[in-house]
Amino acid sequence: MNKQMYSSLGISDGVLKFCDEILASLKERFEKIDLMAEYNQGKVLKAFRDNRVSAECFAGTTGYGHDDKGRDTLERVYADTFHTEAALVRPHITCGTHALAIALSANLLPGDELLSPVGKPYDTLEEVIGIRDSVCSLKEYGVTYRQVDLLEDGTFDYENIKKAINEKTKLVTIQRSKGYQMRPTFSVKQIGELIAFVKSIKPSLIVMVDNCYGEFVEELEPSDVGADMTVGSLIKNPGGGLAPIGGYIAGTQECINRCHYRLSAPGIGQDVGASLSVMTSFYQGFFLSPTVVAGALKGAIFAANVYEKLGFNVVPNSTESRHDIIQSVQLGSAERMQAFCSGIQAAAPVDSYVTPIPYPIPGYNCDVLMAAGAFVQGSSIELSADGPIREPFAVYFQGGLTWYHAKYGIMMSLQKLYEEKLVDLNSNSNL
Ligand SMILES: *Cc1c(COP(=O)(O)O)cnc(C)c1O
Repeated sequence: MNKQMYSSLGISDGVLKFCDEILASLKERFEKIDLMAEYNQGKVLKAFRDNRVSAECFAGTTGYGHDDKGRDTLERVYADTFHTEAALVRPHITCGTHALAIALSANLLPGDELLSPVGKPYDTLEEVIGIRDSVCSLKEYGVTYRQVDLLEDGTFDYENIKKAINEKTKLVTIQRSKGYQMRPTFSVKQIGELIAFVKSIKPSLIVMVDNCYGEFVEELEPSDVGADMTVGSLIKNPGGGLAPIGGYIAGTQECINRCHYRLSAPGIGQDVGASLSVMTSFYQGFFLSPTVVAGALKGAIFAANVYEKLGFNVVPNSTESRHDIIQSVQLGSAERMQAFCSGIQAAAPVDSYVTPIPYPIPGYNCDVLMAAGAFVQGSSIELSADGPIREPFAVYFQGGLTWYHAKYGIMMSLQKLYEEKLVDLNSNSNL
């Protein structure tokens, strides 16, 4: 039955057999992921129950949005899931970068210093901070920035972090996922150790963790290990593929109050902000998120195993533990990147008929190739792949609303490479 379905989608017997063999070896690994999803599903369910979520919460408000029960209850659901005093979760937060910018600018004042002890932050934060000049950057407002790079082996440089913390240091930012860098993604445990270290040097420090792509991958979240603010995007993991916009900040009451004031206006804070008609998707997406994340993780692990067996460098590798849903595959040539992304695009439920072509994006010194055919524009919890067309010609692959869809996507990427004779399925040194 399934064999026929694969062939009707253009997947050849050779590719199917190759993938089936790999899948057979992943059974135990997948069982562990299912257990994690079950745990996190329970965590979310408990927060829904404890906060008595009801149909009223989905109604939405307009205008000022005073007394918006759905909005206020959702923020309690997030706070309880992340085990924090408070949370800010709203459609008025336009994306992950916006959520991070709110968290930073609400809690840093002129004369304060921001420290990143984990090297360069995500590209879009460079302008928020002022690493690259921009109007309205923190730098323009008199907030200075200091950075301590990771050691060669990807671990924290504790000695220099200690030296970098001074009387001006107010906030420490830690990015969990690697972004477009080659460093490993940090586990929540590692993040906890770093938080404990910086707070042992200066207890008054506020620690913010950029949690993008990390939600529900592990049992704990950064908020469980001492982060004062945990921040992410709803068009990634916690939106569950349903939220059409949004971001969240979960943290201490003191930090979150300031975030509310920064997002709306001083004196007004959390009491305004109509939720319009998006509340059902926020609740339902958050409820589904642990399962969606599990599917995406299976897809990432499957892709790592497929491409590692063919001899490509994959990060993380086929066996190591996972702390986010991102998989990078170093394909070694622009042609292979093109074929890979064309396969992912062909497997999309939306825009399957278009061919991705490289194009220039601000902030990159080369063209970028992107494959995405998503229900929510730009959503990267949905199956997607992208990569800058430059050495080492790596694609970053993520998402999949269901495991089965991620599987079809990866098989179609391999099919394209195979058809164009860019890989030999019998060789373990294709790179
Ligand atoms: C995606 C991402 C961001 C920014 O999110 P946007 O929604 O694209 O603005 C920030 N940090 C990390 C690690 C990310 O993966």
